[in-house]
Amino acid sequence: MSHTTFRVGRLTCHALEGGTQRLDGGAMFGVVPKPLWQRRIPADERNRIPLALRCLLIEHDDGLVLVDTGLGNKEDAKFKDIYGVVNEGADGRTCLEDALAELGYAPGDVRWVINTHLHFDHAGGNTFRDPAGRVAVTFPRARYVVQRGELEFARHTNERTAASYLPPNFEPVSFTLVTGEAEPLPGVRCVPTPGHVPFHQSVLVESAGERVCFVADLVPTAAHVPLPWIMGYDLEPLVTLESKRRLYQRAEAEAWLLFFEHDATVIAGRVGREGKGFGLVEPLVAG
Ligand SMILES: [Zn+2]
Repeated sequence: MSHTTFRVGRLTCHALEGGTQRLDGGAMFGVVPKPLWQRRIPADERNRIPLALRCLLIEHDDGLVLVDTGLGNKEDAKFKDIYGVVNEGADGRTCLEDALAELGYAPGDVRWVINTHLHFDHAGGNTFRDPAGRVAVTFPRARYVVQRGELEFARHTNERTAASYLPPNFEPVSFTLVTGEAEPLPGVRCVPTPGHVPFHQSVLVESAGERVCFVADLVPTAAHVPLPWIMGYDLEPLVTLESKRRLYQRAEAEAWLLFFEHDATVIAGRVGREGKGFGLVEPLVAG
């Protein structure tokens, strides 16, 4: 099954499985020692841990809204081996298009795409390579939304950031740019959560008093719920710490469901107090 359906107030939402990747476990857990993190997510013989490429689809009155787009079909075999990518779908496309099809939708039905940031495992599916080798936008009738600062950041890389920002994932797209907290459509909010990258955003969906928040790389897996469990990939880990602290305050007060893009098994859950820190309660596991 490549999708899991749940409701948020009056909205029907779907977790869409866009495939999997494997990243270095040490890099995924930053300063957390391996004996601690491997109890949560065991590593393979190359010290990598399995990660999902999970996207969120919202059936909104204004049309289908997709949050992040997975890794796409443009990368070669060497790239896919390094990052352990398994995301092939039917007709040369990816599992994400297959998951949409399972629900009776085609890429042309999506009206909004919101990117949390433009790293290849979040925005790679913004565009696709057709059988003739040309790159085109995957969702031709969608308005693509990203933070203005993130697009600028992606266009001006340095030695540390360049490997994550691949121009074919964002240059063919004509974006609708937002700045800071924004509500591109009713009940769907872009909430800046910097740290992983300076203009990283989460997406908060609200309906009839219920809320789900797509936290992307702020809290990539359920194992990253504790405040100091922060990725080594983050450019500004202390900023991530404060973004998590601030978001958890709201999440706890309003009983938000946090949606985990990269957790191989746990789709979502609520944060609660666990001793002095935070832990996950009511996990929603892939069906
Ligand atoms: Zn990521």
